[in-house]
Amino acid sequence: MVIIMVSVEIITVGPLETNCYLVCEGKDCLVVDPGDEAETILTILGNRRVLAVVATHLHFDHIGAVEGIVSSTGAPFMVHRLDWEMRDKYTQLARSWGFEPPNLPQPIFIDEGSGLPFNLKVMHTPGHTPGSISIVGDGFVLTGDTLFAGSVGRTDLPGGDIELLIRSICRLYRELPGNYIVYPGHGPPTTINDEADNNYFVPKSLCT
Ligand SMILES: [Zn+2]
Ligand SMILES: [Zn+2]
Repeated sequence: MVIIMVSVEIITVGPLETNCYLVCEGKDCLVVDPGDEAETILTILGNRRVLAVVATHLHFDHIGAVEGIVSSTGAPFMVHRLDWEMRDKYTQLARSWGFEPPNLPQPIFIDEGSGLPFNLKVMHTPGHTPGSISIVGDGFVLTGDTLFAGSVGRTDLPGGDIELLIRSICRLYRELPGNYIVYPGHGPPTTINDEADNNYFVPKSLCT
């Protein structure tokens, strides 16, 4: 029997140092949050096949290379509908920060419980944005800008909601095993246990 493991590669891209993740099994990959530098990402992918491009949310620093990767691979683009409905606001936000907002292909909508390749599952974890998702695999979770090592996503941008963010993070602590690796949208990986015990902003003691 051949056991092919799912691997997670981190490529940090763009001016806001966004973590783009390649989640791969053999020659097949999912590209999560390609924020910028499509050429770099495509070079690292090499001859591997892209099954889908997924955005954890629609802030411009997570989607700058979506169009480039989709147009050269033909992969579908997936995002939560609630963030798609915010896209005009996030376009304005990008401009207000001096960035040219990226064009996006028409997405396929994903939501709580949606299945992705390699048995990955979508958790809807709103708060940083209304349509923020986390992507759960066997032994790890990609949290976008919901949960970081020692910190949490900001909620002062359009559609942000601190109550929802706390509820979403508490769900991650409650529903995922403590040894699961957390791969955030910015900064280094951590674990569910480390954050549940030590996260300064949302420790598990805040969860009821
Ligand atoms: Zn964000
Ligand atoms: Zn971000």
